[in-house]
Amino acid sequence: MQQYIIGNWKMNGTKAESQKLAAGFLKRIQEATRPLPHIVLCPSYPYLTSVFEILKGSPIEVGAQDGHPEKSGSFTGDVSISQLVDVGCKYVIVGHSERRNFHQESSALIRKKIESAIKAGLRPILCIGETEKDRETGKTLEVIGHQVTSDLPSSFMPHDLIIAYEPLWAIGTGKLPKQEEVEEVLGFIKHELSTHIAGGALVPMLYGGSVNAANAPSFLNLPHVDGLLVGGVSLKLDEFWEIVNASTR
Ligand code: PEP
Repeated sequence: MQQYIIGNWKMNGTKAESQKLAAGFLKRIQEATRPLPHIVLCPSYPYLTSVFEILKGSPIEVGAQDGHPEKSGSFTGDVSISQLVDVGCKYVIVGHSERRNFHQESSALIRKKIESAIKAGLRPILCIGETEKDRETGKTLEVIGHQVTSDLPSSFMPHDLIIAYEPLWAIGTGKLPKQEEVEEVLGFIKHELSTHIAGGALVPMLYGGSVNAANAPSFLNLPHVDGLLVGGVSLKLDEFWEIVNASTR
């Protein structure tokens, strides 16, 4: 399976900076001499259209960082999944820990978003992960198992979505899980998914949390890792491109 390198720009940048970054990645891809992974960039809502206009027709896809499950209505400040499709998005991040923490998103809401995205032809990237306390108390697999069963709809096809394992304590902290810990969790998710749907082990699995150019190869070489979700470093053109070039398939 071709790997995925996904950049979550979070609430960063101006329109000019977002356009410059997108144009920079487009130039890199045009000059690339090796097979590339799937590349997805997720800018802030206001810049989705201008980033999409730059990347349109190139292999780089655009994703959003969240989406409301209802098609339209009185949801001030929200952006619907169908509006995201309308402006060219192919992916949407769902259940990021920052949404769960700062917006109290529940598993029921996350599941609705996933259902709505799949129905609209947008591929959700579901983020799951344990807290530092969960890990210290040996509850990692229990927490991850619970997230898998409560966040996911009862039926979907393996290619409908992507799962990103992001230990909360590794996001933006510089702390990293050991390679064997990542493999253990991803292997466990694959096993859980195969009991959940036919072909569940084929759902692409990403790692995310403090990835940079120096540590990316150690994750991209792991058998269960189908790609990376990159936050902070995805705003750095050269370093993110080094991560793209570290992809192994
Ligand atoms: C993220 O927020 O999804 C993330 C992985 O962030 P960072 O790479 O900055 O840790």
